Amino acid sequence: MSKLNFSVKFWGTRGAVSSPTRQSVKYGGNTSCVEVQCGDRTLIFDAGSGFRLLGLDLQERKITNLDLFFTHFHYDHICGLPFFAPLYNPGCKIQIWSGHLDRKNATRETFKDYMNHPFFPVGPEVFNAHISYNDFRSGDDLAPGDNIEIKTCKLNHPGGATAYRINFDGRSFCYVTDTEHKPEGLDTNILQLIDSADMMVYDATYSDSEYPNYIDFGHSTWEQGILLCQKANVKKFGLFHHRPSRTDEKLDSIEREAKAVFPGSFATSDGLVIKL
Ligand SMILES: [Zn+2]
Ligand SMILES: [Zn+2]
Repeated sequence: MSKLNFSVKFWGTRGAVSSPTRQSVKYGGNTSCVEVQCGDRTLIFDAGSGFRLLGLDLQERKITNLDLFFTHFHYDHICGLPFFAPLYNPGCKIQIWSGHLDRKNATRETFKDYMNHPFFPVGPEVFNAHISYNDFRSGDDLAPGDNIEIKTCKLNHPGGATAYRINFDGRSFCYVTDTEHKPEGLDTNILQLIDSADMMVYDATYSDSEYPNYIDFGHSTWEQGILLCQKANVKKFGLFHHRPSRTDEKLDSIEREAKAVFPGSFATSDGLVIKL
């Protein structure tokens, strides 16, 4: 039997703030946004600045049923939200999910807080799509239907964040950002989540040599990502959440270094598509 489509497209791979410069043309400058196709279903992870372009693309492809999952609501993961065309389309059905805030109606309330004065001119009432807001707790299993299985875990990040594993048609993809590794060893929650996965995308904001200057900023290193993949038998490792200051040249050299240690490594870039 032929395999169902299970693919990942990166629409934004930066962390912190978008960084479009002449030195970042190859990897791109948009912040976190990842599209995952599972058969006919479209899952989206985070709504950073890359989310706007994804919205236009989905319109062209006439895709009107979407699930949007948030790791957390730091600006770099939510800044594209009001600029996503499908939210204004009455023919679209959008299920929105978040699990890092342990309070009632957290997903819906955050949207209201974010799209409000003095930060934004209009509120989420301008959206015309059929939207459902779904709160869960990091660590819960989610079942969005169509044989898609989603597992989650809590990450070590200021204010909390959620990691996701998507199991579909015998394959698996893990989205693990933003998180800071712990000095006492590898994060057992993450190891359990990513066990034997086909691919993990991980918070590679820093290198081990840079990290001591950024303790408690909530981010990890590409070297830690490799240790996790090695320990958990993950096949492919996507370096993600690149620092805004990383030039194409620097990311090329980090990718070379990472491949030398773990051949399944690659630096994610805006526009890149990976078939699982
Ligand atoms: Zn971030
Ligand atoms: Zn963050």
